[in-house]
Amino acid sequence: MGEAASGRSGAPADRASARGMATRFVSFAFAGADLLFEVDTTGTITFAMGASSGLTEKIDRDLVGLAWTDIVHPDDHAYVGALIRSLGIGSRCGPAVVRLAILSPDGAPRPGVLSACRLPGDDERVACTLTRATAAVAATAAARKRDPESQLLQKDSFGDMVADVAAAAANLDQPVGLTMLDVPGLAALQRRLPAKVASEMIRSVGALLRAASVDGNSAGRIAEERFGVLQQDGAPTLPQNIADLTRRLDPTGAGVAVSRTDIALAFDSMAPDDAMKAIRYVVNRFAESAPGTAMPDTLSGAFETMVHDTVERMSQFAQTVQQENFDVAYQPIVDLTDRGIHHFEVLARFKNGESPFETIRFAEQVGIIEQFDLGVCLRTIRQLESPDCDSRLSLAVNISGRSIENAMFVKCLMEMIDQHRLVAKRMILEITESSELKDLSQVDRIVQDLRKRGSIVCLDDFGAGAASFQYLQALSIDYVKIDGAYVKRLGYSPRDDAMMKGIVSLCRDLHIKTIAEMIEASEQAAALRAIGVEFGQGYLFGKPSPVAQLPPATVARIARRRGSQESWG
Ligand code: C2E
Ligand code: MG
Ligand code: MG
Repeated sequence: MGEAASGRSGAPADRASARGMATRFVSFAFAGADLLFEVDTTGTITFAMGASSGLTEKIDRDLVGLAWTDIVHPDDHAYVGALIRSLGIGSRCGPAVVRLAILSPDGAPRPGVLSACRLPGDDERVACTLTRATAAVAATAAARKRDPESQLLQKDSFGDMVADVAAAAANLDQPVGLTMLDVPGLAALQRRLPAKVASEMIRSVGALLRAASVDGNSAGRIAEERFGVLQQDGAPTLPQNIADLTRRLDPTGAGVAVSRTDIALAFDSMAPDDAMKAIRYVVNRFAESAPGTAMPDTLSGAFETMVHDTVERMSQFAQTVQQENFDVAYQPIVDLTDRGIHHFEVLARFKNGESPFETIRFAEQVGIIEQFDLGVCLRTIRQLESPDCDSRLSLAVNISGRSIENAMFVKCLMEMIDQHRLVAKRMILEITESSELKDLSQVDRIVQDLRKRGSIVCLDDFGAGAASFQYLQALSIDYVKIDGAYVKRLGYSPRDDAMMKGIVSLCRDLHIKTIAEMIEASEQAAALRAIGVEFGQGYLFGKPSPVAQLPPATVARIARRRGSQESWG
């Protein structure tokens, strides 16, 4: 700096010092980036310098004359275009993670980190830097789920991203705001337009949102016509820009209106965990609420609303349990050698036959799952006791890890089993791994108590959680149900296949029987059988249904078994 300030004109020493400064600036530039390039108003690269390997397939000087779109993946053209267009004179954007035209060995576009700046007095050119993304950045970018149409983050990924970035911003004392946009009529407009124009429109909406976000990635599509963006400058023109875009493309010229809701993400005195919960809550609420629903405008307001909603939901759930206002579906588990039915799993159904997953997680999180699990056990016992239930049939119920760790639940379950000893032997208890078991030796004491009473115990979703092997070591059980994720990846990943084989052989050594879930294809069933998995569950053998309904082939097989007086297992 001193040398620059003391620069005088003309003298050779000055020229030498100017050269020195130029070298110094180039060094500074390369300290922060791998490749420097300049783009003119037509989008053509007019200058390039630096290490382009890993970022493009060309050496730097061969980039001159190409368009910037040649080095950026087509999925990100709209976004980078919007980013460059949004650059005012004297302003800077980035660092932003962008997908490059060059592909990684797995065929996915390689991520790079782009920054750009338009200097005052040189507004015809945009100076850009591109840097290889670190493995951590690449992994984070790849892990976040995107909506394929808009290239924006999907709701859950967006909620997580906003919570993480807002927490980091609070630490750095950088105020950030969450802007949520409601674009009613967007889907209808999309349907009215020719397919190509419609998809261009959604992609451009996505590009505008990403360009307005703090890092080019904190923008999400949280419902079909609702979007969110984490911004630092208030994103003052974003709603208008989206409305203008739709107007330009709409043949009627009407376009769609955009309404915005803002929430300041100041953590103030809130505990960071509460603040992050409140952020995820706000994103979900905005995604699901009716148009025009008032949204809290501060995080503490969001937290209060969340607590209020949670209490309401808890009391609704308690009522559902109390009034037994839920259904169950039955899904068969078959012997993989001959596909004969071994037993059925009882799966809860709350409304419209939908998956109970969300409700169960909610009940676990707020600590009210125990009563529900007891309710399902009781209903299952009643079902097993009913006169039209085949006495050779066994039913498996799901018991949350939370329930099994609750002394009151265990006491009630034991009592129920004692009162219905005969049928309780035909009830298999599947301990789900959705919530982590803490005191394993205590859980094992309970499991052994249950087994002494004749109950069969199964560990569900094995391999999904980090502690599965620890559980296997600490708990003596009868069955392990291997998580469906392994079945889905069977044959695609040698690592997962090896894990699957390892689990099966370990269980065999421990005299534990194995069940594989989510089997949808006969090839999967054959492969699982080949590695020694004994039982299988999945759409291939039968979907969950209100009655224990069997596919005709299985019914015939059972009839033959019954004919030969064989037991079901
Ligand atoms: P889970 O115990 O692992 O149950 C298997 C889930 O996989 C079920 O989802 C079933 O519908 C689904 N499924 C079965 N075969 C296939 C297949 O071939 N392909 C695919 N894609 N899916 C398949 P569901 O009914 O949505 O239940 C989700 C989870 O909710 C259950 O996972 C279990 O953890 C929990 N759950 C269900 N009922 C209860 C209950 O009464 N109490 C407790 N605590 N949890 C329950
Ligand atoms: Mg289960
Ligand atoms: Mg499972």
